[in-house]
Amino acid sequence: MKTTGYAAFSTTTPLAPFVFERRALRPNDVAMEILFCGVCHSDLHTAHNDWGWTTYPIVPGHEIVGRVTEVGPDVTRYKVGDAVAVGCMVDSCMECDQCHNGEEQLCREGNTGTYCGLDRITHEPTQGGYSKHLVVREEFVLRVPDGLDLSRAAPLLCAGITTYSPLRTWNVGPGSRVGVIGLGGLGHMAVKLAVGLGADVTVLSRTTNKEADALALGADRLLVSSDDGAMSQAASGFDLIIDTVPVKHDLNPYMPLLDVDGTLVLVGQVGPLAEPSTVPLILGRRRIAGSPIGGIRETQEMLDLCAKKNILPDCEMIRMDQINEAFERMEHADVRYRFVIDMASLPA
Ligand SMILES: [Zn+2]
Ligand SMILES: [Zn+2]
Repeated sequence: MKTTGYAAFSTTTPLAPFVFERRALRPNDVAMEILFCGVCHSDLHTAHNDWGWTTYPIVPGHEIVGRVTEVGPDVTRYKVGDAVAVGCMVDSCMECDQCHNGEEQLCREGNTGTYCGLDRITHEPTQGGYSKHLVVREEFVLRVPDGLDLSRAAPLLCAGITTYSPLRTWNVGPGSRVGVIGLGGLGHMAVKLAVGLGADVTVLSRTTNKEADALALGADRLLVSSDDGAMSQAASGFDLIIDTVPVKHDLNPYMPLLDVDGTLVLVGQVGPLAEPSTVPLILGRRRIAGSPIGGIRETQEMLDLCAKKNILPDCEMIRMDQINEAFERMEHADVRYRFVIDMASLPA
């Protein structure tokens, strides 16, 4: 099937229109028309080959919401017309212990990325959601529950699950004390989801500039991390801190905030960090951890929770041809809090 999209053709050129093929349906495949696609920092990093593994041309996009247009003969869960979603992975081995546990993101063979991956059968590069159509095996298709606004649901598929998964891994619920560092695409979802799970939520920020935004998102308070007095007063006051900062930074000011056995989990920075001191780790039995996205079952659970509690990302809708401008604005953190592409703006 021929489809159209927007691709990066090199590290330096802007994204531009691209016509390419989606595979013919296998028996367990679902074909969908993409309606909305969120714009993630990973899209930008991949387009620029910041991580060194990009192959061109590359169609980014892994926060995908659409409608089923066709299903293979073995598909049982979806039918034409269903509202569906696809996140950061489109396949895994389905046989290892992690896959059996529903943790396909941690597949021992590595999951297949929605873009910049290799199809497990044809070994052709996968292409993402900045396009009109997508074909994915049904096990990696999510259901968008009734009542969830399709135009705002897309960022849940990466920013949402990336922050929901650690909340579930560390058993956050009513009474949990959660801190969130960074108030961008990931951070604003961490706040909303932690609030949705009943936690007491604090946004950590260098200044008071974001206080009104933090409270509007549902946080209980903002703690100014440059205020030594306030930081000392808050010592040992957190069970979990979700660190969404996407660049190299210093963890040392935050570690004393964790209670005994508390965890600071990194979800934003894929790369080096400033050197952390082991003193607060050892003396307080505190932990530094990392977490990627979540598994398919957990992603569905999150979508269902968001529908039930009306938790939605704050989005800025753009046209496909505004993507390069959106990338530029993202590099300056100039978005509240996620760009979503209206795929109707992409000519067929
Ligand atoms: Zn992403
Ligand atoms: Zn596996």
